[in-house]
Amino acid sequence: LFITLEGGDGCGKTTQSELLTDWLRQSGRTVLRTREPGGTDVGGAIREIVLHHRGEIAPRAEALLYAADRAQHIATAVRPALARGEVVIQDRYLDSSVAYQGAGRVLDATPVRNLSLWAAEGLLPALTVLLDLDETVARGRLDAENKPFDRLEAEKSDFHRRVRAAFLALADAEPERFLVVDAGRPVAEIAAVIRDRVAALL
Ligand code: C5P
Ligand code: MG
Repeated sequence: LFITLEGGDGCGKTTQSELLTDWLRQSGRTVLRTREPGGTDVGGAIREIVLHHRGEIAPRAEALLYAADRAQHIATAVRPALARGEVVIQDRYLDSSVAYQGAGRVLDATPVRNLSLWAAEGLLPALTVLLDLDETVARGRLDAENKPFDRLEAEKSDFHRRVRAAFLALADAEPERFLVVDAGRPVAEIAAVIRDRVAALL
């Protein structure tokens, strides 16, 4: 079972993937909890490049770097885990590329999606949880938790607005795959909504 979490920076993906992983492990499942970019050693090096050189990387080069990270991750970590019958809980996947490189960097969504699908050997998650949150709320939350929000600051507000709108459009286009949750709700409530949906897939 392959489950991904998507949404802007500071929407609570990491918190929710931890809670979901704990719950699945308590119920006896073996879980690979992973993320993109940077879920493998090779991907860690790519993550350094995309995050450290943000702003100097041409949009198409950025899309290709994320695709390379994804190809390595799917081939060497995700597919083997799924083949062993494990549950894979992953922060970010190809929807992030469509939202960030497609809408954020204003590359066309279709080639970015096709590139991502090719990199991922066509693998789509059974469930994608979209944690939807306004950028200003995300910023306030990260600030309140004393977490850095330099990633949000790295891009202008209209970039974040395009990314958010693109995620919502993706969810609209594939309602069976997506569960959209208002990420401004209390953490425990969100976790319960996600658990209910995952329980139905087990
Ligand atoms: O916290 P996380 O690991 O998701 O952060 C990765 C960073 O890379 C975020 O700032 C996110 O905006 C960015 N990113 C991106 N395009 C992607 C995936 C992530 O710009 N396809
Ligand atoms: Mg995170």
